[in-house]
Amino acid sequence: MKFPGVLRSKLPKQGTTIFTVMSGLAREHGAVNLSQGFPDFSIPSRLVELTHSFMNRGFNQYSPMQGVLGLREKLAEKVEELYSAKYDSETEITITAGGTQAIYTAISAFVTEGDEVIIFEPAYDCYVPAIQIHGGTPAYVQMNLSGELIDWEKVKRLINQRTRMIIINTPHNPSGRVMNAQDMAKLQKLTDGTDIIILSDEVYEHIIFDGFEHQSVARFPKLAERSIIVSSFGKTYHNTGWKMGHVMAPANLMKEFRKVHQFNVFSVNTPAQHALAEFLNDKEHYLELGAFYQEKRDTFNRLLQGSNFKIRASEGTYFQLLDYSAISDEKDTDYAIRLTKEVGVASIPVSVFYHEKNEDKFLRFCFAKEDETLEKAAEKLMKL
Ligand code: GLN
Repeated sequence: MKFPGVLRSKLPKQGTTIFTVMSGLAREHGAVNLSQGFPDFSIPSRLVELTHSFMNRGFNQYSPMQGVLGLREKLAEKVEELYSAKYDSETEITITAGGTQAIYTAISAFVTEGDEVIIFEPAYDCYVPAIQIHGGTPAYVQMNLSGELIDWEKVKRLINQRTRMIIINTPHNPSGRVMNAQDMAKLQKLTDGTDIIILSDEVYEHIIFDGFEHQSVARFPKLAERSIIVSSFGKTYHNTGWKMGHVMAPANLMKEFRKVHQFNVFSVNTPAQHALAEFLNDKEHYLELGAFYQEKRDTFNRLLQGSNFKIRASEGTYFQLLDYSAISDEKDTDYAIRLTKEVGVASIPVSVFYHEKNEDKFLRFCFAKEDETLEKAAEKLMKL
């Protein structure tokens, strides 16, 4: 069928997200799928049991629009313990249908026609469309993936009267780099006295390696008071398909966030929220997540030792960039497709996270996989 009228697309140039494209291609060609970020191992069985038990006990109707209070209370305790920040569970925490919805809703609540939003490239692919669909304009800062990550002088030059928001992401997807305390201090200085809102995508907060400490904006009171923090249960509990996340923000920002949230989601899966509230008592799970994934990263990188890829070890997230410039001159999008079809390993080409042509030769590989999967992939990659 076809719509017979004039179709005025709100996102005329937008294609299908790379994660859907590459996972589809991996399936089609039977390739080892290290493209889209999701674990291929089981989630904690107790979490499944808890969810069943809440379903059996009749927790099957709408939860409050803001989320199950018990879960919000647990999250308030957690953020205070980890980052010494106080968030009111009643007015400053909302449960969302994953990180992407939280980001979209936050942008929708605050960005309007004529606003500028500063984002750092490579940028996760859901930021720009959400800005554009609300009439905003992205202002881009290129990050330096092989050295000092962010040149804050560049950010300073971009800030003007129209700057409504700055989106940061640490640990950073797709680069696997992390922001440090000096970065946060500079961000604080630049935004002090302005009306700029910071949208802080911290979905990989617990997946950080080599002794780096996650620099949540929550740790910095002057940043926290202008920030919306986005977190993800999917990344922390290996259950990306549950599509569960949460946001934290000062009450007056959260009030605006909820004005939108109530109409684009209303509320989130009830039994899963109760189960997560219980499961949050297991602090070891998230406190040991960094070590768990560091081992995965090390396994993957060790398996690739002696290969023709250049590797700078990921500092956080469950992604590893591989530089293939010594293997091929091909454009990364072409190379990623060929690798999937002919070699049997799917990855994500990093150039898709830039608005302009990008000649870098990086592919992103997800190592949230059974060792067996990583071995299978590495065996193929070692032949290149
Ligand atoms: N965050 C995941 C990744 O970076 C993808 C999520 C999605 O497919 N929307 O791979």
